[in-house]
Amino acid sequence: MSDAAARTRLATHAVTNQPAPPSARDLLAEDAPLCEALAREAPDWVARRLAPLGREAGSAEVQALGEAANRYPPELRLFDRHGRRLDEVSYHPAYHALMHLAIDHGWHAVAWQEEGRGGHQAHVAALYLLTQAEPGFCCPITMTHAALPALRQSPAVEARWAPGLLAWDYDPRALPATEKSGLTVGMAMTEKQGGSDVRTNTTRADALVTSTRADPLAATRAAPLASITRAEALISTRAETGMDGWRLTGHKWFCSAPMSDAFLTLAQTDAGLSCFLVPRFTPDGERNAIELQRLKEKCGNRANASAEIEYRGAWAEAIGEPGRGIATILEMVQQTRLDAATAPVGMMRQALVEAWRHVRERHAFGRALSEQPLMRVLLADMAIEVEAGLALSLRAARAFGGAARGEASEAALARLLPTLAKYWHNKRTPGFMAEAMECLGGIGYVEETPLARLYREAPVNSIWEGSGNVICLDLLRVMARHPASLAAVREEVSAARGQQADLDCAWTKLEAELGAAPNTLEPRARWLAQRLAQCLQGALLLRHGPLAVAETFCRTRLGGEAGPAYGVLPGNAPLAALLARIGD
Ligand SMILES: Cc1cc2nc3c(=O)[nH]c(=O)nc-3n(C[C@H](O)[C@H](O)[C@H](O)COP(=O)(O)OP(=O)(O)OC[C@H]3O[C@@H](n4cnc5c(N)ncnc54)[C@H](O)[C@@H]3O)c2cc1C
Repeated sequence: MSDAAARTRLATHAVTNQPAPPSARDLLAEDAPLCEALAREAPDWVARRLAPLGREAGSAEVQALGEAANRYPPELRLFDRHGRRLDEVSYHPAYHALMHLAIDHGWHAVAWQEEGRGGHQAHVAALYLLTQAEPGFCCPITMTHAALPALRQSPAVEARWAPGLLAWDYDPRALPATEKSGLTVGMAMTEKQGGSDVRTNTTRADALVTSTRADPLAATRAAPLASITRAEALISTRAETGMDGWRLTGHKWFCSAPMSDAFLTLAQTDAGLSCFLVPRFTPDGERNAIELQRLKEKCGNRANASAEIEYRGAWAEAIGEPGRGIATILEMVQQTRLDAATAPVGMMRQALVEAWRHVRERHAFGRALSEQPLMRVLLADMAIEVEAGLALSLRAARAFGGAARGEASEAALARLLPTLAKYWHNKRTPGFMAEAMECLGGIGYVEETPLARLYREAPVNSIWEGSGNVICLDLLRVMARHPASLAAVREEVSAARGQQADLDCAWTKLEAELGAAPNTLEPRARWLAQRLAQCLQGALLLRHGPLAVAETFCRTRLGGEAGPAYGVLPGNAPLAALLARIGD
């Protein structure tokens, strides 16, 4: 017998009926709902600028980086070999490569560099694409992006930090900010005794007062950080505030991206809870007294480090008005919430495409899985969910842009849309991931496909930046304090009324509930958030989406045919048209 024949006879691993290895994809060009949403919600330059990112994020190289960044999670390095404190985190090179992908192309900065001109839409769409490369590293991208509105509460601090935060240069070195070409920012609010209720924070801030008198004009003269020396930075801080800064003492139970160059932090002062910027290095170039205690061993989000930290008299400067720390940090949280509403949609899109690719190449019971009616219904239903989420996220991004231009109704929408989208998109994601995983059968549950990773990642955006219930309470608060926000949502939905009976009926019932006495609404807040989000999604799809998607969405999410699980569509649902939205 020849060698070749012997090999064939002994072969036990002829691989048949398995999909071909994944090939590179263009995550923008192949995503029709994204292209269409950008065409209606953003100026033309946004899609043009995103085009290379779509190709790069879907390339085999970047997808492999995403896998590696998860497989080799960050490690804590508390001390150097001689026992000196380092308090550093060491990341796999894949993580740094992903950070370069985002920051060296300015996706953390575009919202502010093109503010009011499509920058927010560009940021949100970029985040949706970057998430499909790997969601964990998007946490520091989001926080760095979101820090600016909080820093704007203290123009002098903003003037020194903004150039580094907006620089298109990822610089991971642990050095004083003045010596770096690009900066990132994290946030530290959560403490052991209270995360949602940050009023219980115990971290204490004590002012370091010098004899130098406050200089009220200093803010207007503040120089960019990069252009001044360390010593000048300290002097300028003194001149601006009349103080040497503040000393913070206390713990923070969660602090993600602990290698950031500074952390926006809440701490107690005599005036009440206040906001501070705590740099990793003091203005005179010493390591700040921020000790890392340990890294969390997390269910998912493994590429991203989340630490427990201690401030041991850490030097800080105040941001915003003393005693108004929550209001100040909410400027940042409003931004992070939109990202936390968008990331799950990106993850759902990635899982959907993965599942669709698999079922088209895998056969069972004599036919491709994609030809089996139940599989078709399931994937068509999932495709609708992604399209609805994308429509709402990009509409919210446009509202941020309108708010920046001073448009009152867009500003009103911008208050509510991120909250609604954050709540509802994240409630839809874990179940979605389980279904996508199941489409692949057994190998969906195996780490070699991205489904296991996406499944573990799915709950996190619901927990941070306001957990589900807290988001719903915030919805009630915003509706009570800013009635114009609900009026703006009403107007947005009204634009689609009269087109589809299920939407009209759902909205009428919702209005009746919203009319109840405000103090009776709390137990219904989850339902109100869900219904407001779904009515908005339905209205957006009816106005702008294909009829097949819009009709089926309204019937199955708002009408009598609504079911709690994925994969329940009316018998006459236009499956081919719905599945075509996934792309090839
Ligand atoms: C991976 C990861 C990274 C994180 N990174 C950071 C970070 O970088 N910086 C940071 O500051 N924090 C971070 N966090 C912390 C996160 O923001 C908090 O965990 C979150 O805000 C919830 O706070 P908590 O854990 O104290 O839960 P709790 O506040 O105890 O809430 C527990 C549950 O109770 C619910 N709840 C609270 N109040 C009410 C109410 N009045 N009515 C009904 N239900 C209520 C909440 O919705 C939640 O479901 C991170 C968390 C995770 C998981």
